[in-house]
Amino acid sequence: MNKITERTLYHYINGEKVGGTSGRLGDIFNPATGEICAKVPLANKADVQQAVQAAAAALPTWASTPPLQRARILMNFRALVLQHQDEIITVMSQEHGKTLPDSLGDLTRGLEVVEFAMGIPQLLKGDFSENVANAVDSYAIRQPVGVCVGITPFNFPAMVPLWMFPIALACGNTFVLKPSEKVPSTSLLLAELLTKAGLPKGVFNVVNGEKEAVDTLLTAPDVAAISFVGSTLVGEYIYKVGCEQGKRVQALCGAKNHLVVMPDADMNQVVDAIIGAAYGSAGERCMAISVVVPVGEETAQRLRECLIPRIRALKIGGYTDEKAEMGPLITMQHLQKVKSYVALGVDEGAELVIDGRDVQVVGGEKGFFLGGCLFDHVTANMRIYKEEIFGPVLALVRVESYGEAVQLVNAHEYGNGAAIFTRDGDCARNFTHTVNIGMVGVNVPIPVPVAYNSFGGWKRSLFGDHAIHGTEGVHFYTRLKTITTRWTTGIRGAQFHFKGGS
Ligand code: NAD
Repeated sequence: MNKITERTLYHYINGEKVGGTSGRLGDIFNPATGEICAKVPLANKADVQQAVQAAAAALPTWASTPPLQRARILMNFRALVLQHQDEIITVMSQEHGKTLPDSLGDLTRGLEVVEFAMGIPQLLKGDFSENVANAVDSYAIRQPVGVCVGITPFNFPAMVPLWMFPIALACGNTFVLKPSEKVPSTSLLLAELLTKAGLPKGVFNVVNGEKEAVDTLLTAPDVAAISFVGSTLVGEYIYKVGCEQGKRVQALCGAKNHLVVMPDADMNQVVDAIIGAAYGSAGERCMAISVVVPVGEETAQRLRECLIPRIRALKIGGYTDEKAEMGPLITMQHLQKVKSYVALGVDEGAELVIDGRDVQVVGGEKGFFLGGCLFDHVTANMRIYKEEIFGPVLALVRVESYGEAVQLVNAHEYGNGAAIFTRDGDCARNFTHTVNIGMVGVNVPIPVPVAYNSFGGWKRSLFGDHAIHGTEGVHFYTRLKTITTRWTTGIRGAQFHFKGGS
């Protein structure tokens, strides 16, 4: 039995904090200091089954609760999240390492999905076709799929869970969230606020854990749908196993996002965009720009000269440092992995223009910091180009023509995001039309769709048929039912008045 203490977290099952029975605890680090700030119980099979059972038991009543009543609970939830905003973003920055403004952005983008889901009565309205044959009408409605599961990554502790559960709950499903074991506190706070907002017990549950917890969820007979966001190999595994088990699965995965710079682009705008998009949140964003493709030698040279001083000037520090623009990486293990990619790039023959490996952060000597790194003359056959590094490491790949840039983008195995910077409308239009990428920006480096549109990549950045949130989210979390009715003449022709005199 795991004991809940001030520094030992819990699962949230059936509206209660639960220690779990695994006897196993994971460490949660403050990446800025390298210290352990809390422990989290890692669920075993029995813990996960308890959460799934709670969600299954709560399903019939919640599914038949009118959509407007469900939406009102989300309205209360939104107000409570705003009241507790400071507490939430502080814990998020402490466990993740991102700056406080970044954590606020993380929460705000998530809350936008809550705002979208608050309109669920309108979104669930069905289609009606009158008289499809003589006296026959047909109508289509969307009903909840059942118990839904969310498995989320470390890099957006609020936004990514909020991509999923507000819409799932609004549609009448119950939910089990398995957040990243590296950043669990945000999800636990959100769970408590849902209960305070009036959500019935068991409708939303959080289990913490790793592979054992995920595998139990993937095979649990009561689970109907799984939303995953994380790395590609794990996502592909979850998609395969989940589908084999007959579940509906959407798995949003890794990325290598390119930004193409045309010779006519506004270079100041380009450099500002790259600094934020490549180094913001230490490059640990699935929509981070990790490859810049300048078109033509002259563009490449100008860009390189403008980028170097800006990367060198990046202010690196923990979230308590108000001036910090970029925080640490998530764990020591991940820091070592990213550093090994920097060493690999040198071995592969790329030019390491800026090496951030020796960065010094006062007070953060044991933190997981890495300074911004820049590689030039990267080529498409190098592993540092092909693989997702997920750190503040930017690769310049020089090309001679626009056509070559498009070919490069299209040949990459990932297809999450891509952007083009140009003043030429024809070029921009051709780019948006031609690239095989899910989310495309024109003079916008991180083209993240808003809540009422849908988010999702192509190629090996997404497994499944649905993108996330927006109407795609409503479709993922509902099943279509089409009903055809015929009513033969019955009591309409009958006479009901008393016939006297006979
Ligand atoms: P991750 O794949 O390591 O973990 C994601 C989730 O899967 C976590 O909850 C984790 O506990 C679980 N998990 C990890 N290994 C597992 C295994 N072997 N079996 C079963 N479950 C397992 O990802 P991460 O490091 O937390 O997050 C970074 C990754 O997420 C990056 O690749 C990034 O591109 C991706 N990401 C993608 C999007 C998107 O929308 N496409 C958004 C955010 C992050």
